[in-house]
Amino acid sequence: MSSNAPDGLEHEKAYDLLVIGGGVGGLSTLYYWLKAHDEKGLGNPPRAALLEKAGVLGGKIQTHRLPLGNGDQCLLEAGPDSVLVKKPDALHLMQELGLGDQLIQTSGQAKELSVYDGKEIKQFPKQCILGIPASPDALQLSELLSDNAKAIAALEPLAQTEAGDSDISVGAFLENRFGKEFVDAQVEPLLAGIFSADIYEQSLNTTLPELRLMLEKHGSLMKGAKAALENQRAGASAFVSLRYGMSGLIDALGVRLSRHVHTNVHVVSVEPQADGMLAVHMRDGSCMFAQRVVVTTPAPGAAKLFHRSLPHLASRFASFPYCDTGSVYALYDQEALRLPENTYGVLMRRDAPTVLNALTVTSRKFEGRSPDSTILLRAFFGGARRPDAAALSGDELRGAVPKDIARIFGVSAQPKHCQIFRHSETAPQYTVGHLDRVADLEKELPAGVFLAGSAYRAPGIPACIADAKSTARSMHQWLFEKNPSSP
Ligand SMILES: Cc1cc2nc3c(=O)[nH]c(=O)nc-3n(C[C@H](O)[C@H](O)[C@H](O)COP(=O)(O)OP(=O)(O)OC[C@H]3O[C@@H](n4cnc5c(N)ncnc54)[C@H](O)[C@@H]3O)c2cc1C
Repeated sequence: MSSNAPDGLEHEKAYDLLVIGGGVGGLSTLYYWLKAHDEKGLGNPPRAALLEKAGVLGGKIQTHRLPLGNGDQCLLEAGPDSVLVKKPDALHLMQELGLGDQLIQTSGQAKELSVYDGKEIKQFPKQCILGIPASPDALQLSELLSDNAKAIAALEPLAQTEAGDSDISVGAFLENRFGKEFVDAQVEPLLAGIFSADIYEQSLNTTLPELRLMLEKHGSLMKGAKAALENQRAGASAFVSLRYGMSGLIDALGVRLSRHVHTNVHVVSVEPQADGMLAVHMRDGSCMFAQRVVVTTPAPGAAKLFHRSLPHLASRFASFPYCDTGSVYALYDQEALRLPENTYGVLMRRDAPTVLNALTVTSRKFEGRSPDSTILLRAFFGGARRPDAAALSGDELRGAVPKDIARIFGVSAQPKHCQIFRHSETAPQYTVGHLDRVADLEKELPAGVFLAGSAYRAPGIPACIADAKSTARSMHQWLFEKNPSSP
């Protein structure tokens, strides 16, 4: 065994579990694995550690505070700002961690979305699920579609295409039922804003399997959207956040797992040993051994971990496509920027000549994000649709983003502050066939290596947490099958 493990990590005895990566995927996998260990009454505390290369936990989840003087501040999320309520795993974990009293819903002002088509902003239709109208009226009232597009889309309940089960792009699946103009004008701007992806490449089975289920159950997506809307509690918020920011979730996990968590530990390779152990090498030259290793890094980082020991596996990891993304926060005086009432987001049509993909009115989406006399906007750039924007310099973005904002809202206001957050290789592109490729990859993993996190089966925080539970279960099961007397 190694004689020079990083500070605080033991090396005399092999670990039961090493988790690589301290984002929400890694932290929640460790949390659920330790919880299952306790619940199963498996005896002595297991030897488990989480290794994170950065100086802080959280990965993409990072909350920042921007002091404005006079004690005022803005709360800026570099990554996610909320979680979806209808996928409840994140909400349940927050409650289990004692964060229930910090949960906040979207504010009463956050009622409407708009779409900018390059000339003007138009209201995003109401009574829709992911842009799919829940009734013929909701379709007819859409400001985004021509009469011809409405006439084609109105036939959707009669369309004969089967739900099927082989993977297909989200764009093709919807186009088959509603026509191309409907998809490009009404659905694409919304989904591109959520996934930073090209919907004509984006895997339906990975990102929106619920659409296929809706079709199977109701025979029509419009009927499915109607049923889904009826099931929503009136006035209930679709998203929740935490009063002091999403890092609250990471901090709470960090406190629960403090004995096991190690930052500034950069793993450089994972190598299977002849005795069945896994050797985990660190950048500082140290090495530790474990029975199980969970890889939760983005796929390009995972490729590096296996480059030395299993190059064919490394190339499989490297084949998963990623995009760079980022966001610019722009803070305005309320008086200077008149926005349409109740609008909390503006989506860009793909062909709109903007640097931005989407814009959130952060100060309207959640209360307390900036002082009352201000408007805080968050502009998203990059992704599969506008990759060139991710390559712009800070000065170029500080110039281009306020110009886009001024054009979209027809104002000449200038922001008082701009803050840029960049994310390289942060938007996994779940292209058609993604889940099959993950399954093939998993067949080639060395015994004892598991995957978790957003790179593989889990777009978004709730899915990462659900996946963490299932990975924790698989790891307990694996060791039990291998050695029924082991923890
Ligand atoms: C701008 C943006 C906005 C988003 N908005 C939302 C939202 O509102 N709601 C939502 O549900 N989801 C949202 N997402 C998606 C969500 O953030 C991710 O799905 C989730 O945070 C991913 O967590 P993860 O643990 O899988 O990966 P990460 O957060 O990427 O964590 C991986 C960790 O591994 C570490 N690591 C990498 N290599 C090594 C190594 N060699 N050794 C040790 N450690 C290593 C990294 O430093 C990192 O901390 C958003 C994403 C972005 C980028």
